[in-house]
Amino acid sequence: MQLIVSDKTQQASFVPPDRLLLGPGPAMVHERVYAAMSRPIIGHLDPAFLDLMDRLQGNLRRTFGTENAMTLPVSGTGSAGMQACFANLLEVGDEVVVGVNGVFGTRMAEVAERLGARVRRVEAEWGEVIPAEALAEALAACDSPRLLAVVHAETSTGAWQPVQGLAQLAHDSGALLMVDAVTSLAGCPLEVDAWDIDACYSGTQKCLGCPPGLSPLTMSERAMQRVADRKSAVSSWYLDLGLIAGYFGSARVYHHTAPISMLYALDEALLLVHEEGLHARWDRHRSNHEALWAGLATLGLEPAASEGHRLWMLNSVLVPDGVDEAGLRRSLLEDHGIEIGPGLGPLAGRVWRIGLMGESSRAANVLRLLGALAQLLGGDAAKARRAAEQSGLQG
Ligand SMILES: *Cc1c(COP(=O)(O)O)cnc(C)c1O
Repeated sequence: MQLIVSDKTQQASFVPPDRLLLGPGPAMVHERVYAAMSRPIIGHLDPAFLDLMDRLQGNLRRTFGTENAMTLPVSGTGSAGMQACFANLLEVGDEVVVGVNGVFGTRMAEVAERLGARVRRVEAEWGEVIPAEALAEALAACDSPRLLAVVHAETSTGAWQPVQGLAQLAHDSGALLMVDAVTSLAGCPLEVDAWDIDACYSGTQKCLGCPPGLSPLTMSERAMQRVADRKSAVSSWYLDLGLIAGYFGSARVYHHTAPISMLYALDEALLLVHEEGLHARWDRHRSNHEALWAGLATLGLEPAASEGHRLWMLNSVLVPDGVDEAGLRRSLLEDHGIEIGPGLGPLAGRVWRIGLMGESSRAANVLRLLGALAQLLGGDAAKARRAAEQSGLQG
């Protein structure tokens, strides 16, 4: 009888299936970014690594369109950047105005509430944008508003919130302007300094072309003064920007271990962004979005976001009557290897979300998706592809 069993097990390494990621994120990752991630790690206080951090911060500033000293990648996904902004800028009892027209505006309001802020939600239908007048009214109704927060690119609906001009509204009432740029950064125009945004954060897995894991963040001098003037300590030790700045600033003191491989990835992704050029990259996102819609229109499909406010990198498509929303997504994934996203909240079952973010926004991907959709919906694939080509694909 065998009494001693080995505790060794032999399990195969995980090998993911081939997928074309055309959902709301994560998006495709460039080969060079994968290559960067697989290089050996070095110490996070190694002078070579610190030089890399300096370069990365410089390239992040160029990407955000800012000269803010406080510009760094927060360890964690996009939501960590959101949490960091609110946790550093708010104290218990502060009044905050939040634009809520989708999942991420809702999340912002919840994060601020959990920090003890008094939140005034300014709501709009999902798929619509929030009128500046409504935000102005809410600010005016506060005693002393501390923060105005909006989502630039509402990934849950595909709505593109105008941000220019909001800083004036916020500052006139004594509030700071905070913008969620998780999906917009590197996919459409965003100018932190020119638009006078005080706090802005993003994520690596949308238009930056990286895996998820870091949240680029930037804060104006005005915002950092607010942090310096706090009466209470930042509730989150991990996300306390004053402490994190000790590592990213000249002191180089240990706060938490930098996620080294992810930082290699972000550095390489930013090299790719600036080799292409920000304006060229925005233009690629615009062209491929227009070409996608030229093709989708031949299949009788219609956008869910309101006209004039449709994002280039996230296209929400109304599910035609009689079509099985989840069934089509399943067939796309299983038979064609293509992932797209479902609707969320009030849009669940009513829309598909097609992401053309960063590396995913490529001519070949648009054509492949149109071919697959035409097949699944019983449309003319050649006609859909021709319409996209005539509209003008890029990359
Ligand atoms: C994806 C996303 C987030 C959250 O980012 P995670 O990386 O999932 O934490 C926040 N805001 C917007 C607009 C997003 O699209």
